[in-house]
Amino acid sequence: MFSNESRGGDRRTPPRFASAAGAVCLLIGLAACGSGTGSAHTGSAGDRVSATGDTSAPGTVAPATSTPPGSPTPPGSPTAETLPLAGKVVALDPGHNPANYRHTAEINRQVNVGNGHKECDTTGTETNAGYAEASYTLDVSRRVRSLLIARGAKVVLTQNGDRPYGPCVDERARIGNEAHADAAVSIHADGAPAADYGFHVIAPQSLHEGGADTRAIAGPSLRLATSLRAHFAAATKEPFADYLGGGKGLMVRGDLGGLNMSTVPKVFIECGNMRNARDAKSLTNPAWRQDAARGIADGLTAFLESSSDSPGGKG
Ligand SMILES: [Zn+2]
Repeated sequence: MFSNESRGGDRRTPPRFASAAGAVCLLIGLAACGSGTGSAHTGSAGDRVSATGDTSAPGTVAPATSTPPGSPTPPGSPTAETLPLAGKVVALDPGHNPANYRHTAEINRQVNVGNGHKECDTTGTETNAGYAEASYTLDVSRRVRSLLIARGAKVVLTQNGDRPYGPCVDERARIGNEAHADAAVSIHADGAPAADYGFHVIAPQSLHEGGADTRAIAGPSLRLATSLRAHFAAATKEPFADYLGGGKGLMVRGDLGGLNMSTVPKVFIECGNMRNARDAKSLTNPAWRQDAARGIADGLTAFLESSSDSPGGKG
């Protein structure tokens, strides 16, 4: 539940910090953070648990079974083994961290992104009314996680509001790699000029430079991107972004460490423009965020099911 009250008076807006953090985001943006100011948003503890009531620690979560131990299983009811995503592992990466702004030195540290170096992490953007991108990404990630677990998947979060900052973009990729995720999604919202609107998905460019080698994942990641684009649009009615990528809602980029360092199929989704009034109204609406989560979960599910059908396995 989003309200100023739920923040429990924990709203901090140190103006001196805002421009520096915004510059970090502009220069190094984990994604296209645009004009994000990164001003002081923590999200309260209430925000952090409001999405699903789930306060569990990050890490691998076993698929839930709907039947209590000892209960007879009604004929035809799903079991963990027959759920559509049984055996699948998904890494969800809630972009940024609500507390990054307090750790400028740490998040400005340079990390290797394969074809260069970038800052560890960025603060992200926010709506004009002050709803932080990092609060949005965490909320939607938790909603997606709940939906995927109900479909039988194991889900790994790169952070669950439980770290003082970050993780760094290289670690965000590594968490998905080490989980041997069948698919990974980094969830963001953009900070573009106020007149711009819409969502887009970002797939990794095929590259082999330094420590980055996305040649094997570029193809499946593009399939994941197109699946997410279709299902997110259907679930939310959000239009494709009108301000980049020719209005196709899809970009291919080689400058994002979280994609460059991935060895599993991975994409970013920028769910809307936080600086646009219409998009901000959606992004701050819990019902819309549930639709957004369903779109992302459906896109992942369709991708994972099609990967299972293909003779090449999970790519
Ligand atoms: Zn972002």
